[in-house]
Amino acid sequence: MPLYLVSTPIGNLSDMTRRAVDVIRAADVVFAEDTRRTAVLLRHYGVETRLISAHEHNEAARARLVVELLTEGKKVAMVSDAGTPLLSDPGARVVRGALEAGFEVIPVPGPSALLAALVASGLPADRFTFYGFLPRKGGDRQELLSEIALSRHTSVVYESPQRLEPLLADLLEVADSGRRISIARELTKMHEEIVRMTLGEAAEAYRDVEVRGEVVVVIEGLPEAPPRPAAGDPAARALAGALLDRGVPASDVARELRERLSIPRNEAYALVQEMADQS
Ligand code: SAM
Repeated sequence: MPLYLVSTPIGNLSDMTRRAVDVIRAADVVFAEDTRRTAVLLRHYGVETRLISAHEHNEAARARLVVELLTEGKKVAMVSDAGTPLLSDPGARVVRGALEAGFEVIPVPGPSALLAALVASGLPADRFTFYGFLPRKGGDRQELLSEIALSRHTSVVYESPQRLEPLLADLLEVADSGRRISIARELTKMHEEIVRMTLGEAAEAYRDVEVRGEVVVVIEGLPEAPPRPAAGDPAARALAGALLDRGVPASDVARELRERLSIPRNEAYALVQEMADQS
């Protein structure tokens, strides 16, 4: 028996596919991030399949249980609280465990806030990077913000409503204010809102505003043939600063600047030297 990975609605219950309902109804057991929440969904569809919790704190043990059940020939499905499992949601360990034990993993596709926000953003969707939630602070956050600012393709970020304002402010530190972004809020729900504006406008519009609901931010990439960033570019400085703070040796930081940003060797060394001297 395969393990079925079933996508569930991200707000609007009608987005559950018929196949998702059929698979869950036919399953012997459904592993769910929050069984009470999934019970509401199952009740809506008149499904009474047994639910077992599988969340980030018990996933390793649950992965073993999933393999045990599959070995017994049971039909096993897995869902997360909303959308597609594994997308900033649990499931990765369960999938790995099932595959390593020789079982097939079959997706039952459906809603995901990532794809819904991306395709409605008006920004190129042919190449994109999904970042999930960025770290809240520190060098890793800085490094990823720089990567987004310097990326040639679209970036997609999940964010909590309270942290939208700091995200936009931090992006504005490293990226051009004219960069186009889209903010998708409460997708598929009654108060759905998708705004498309520049980064500068968005930072202004969401300053000191109480944002409610769930949010996805989609950020335009740099134009296809971007001007080579100069060593003084804010994103280059931010990247160098984040790496130096983390204790990466100056020569390696300079190499990163060369390789990731195509900054000429002598300029990269000069910048790193200057920043290392200041710290
Ligand atoms: N697995 C889910 C998926 O497939 O999209 C995402 C789970 S992640 C824990 C939750 C985050 O997804 C939210 O903080 C928000 O960034 C985004 N999200 C989920 N539902 C959303 C919705 N209806 N509208 C906008 N963003 C949503």
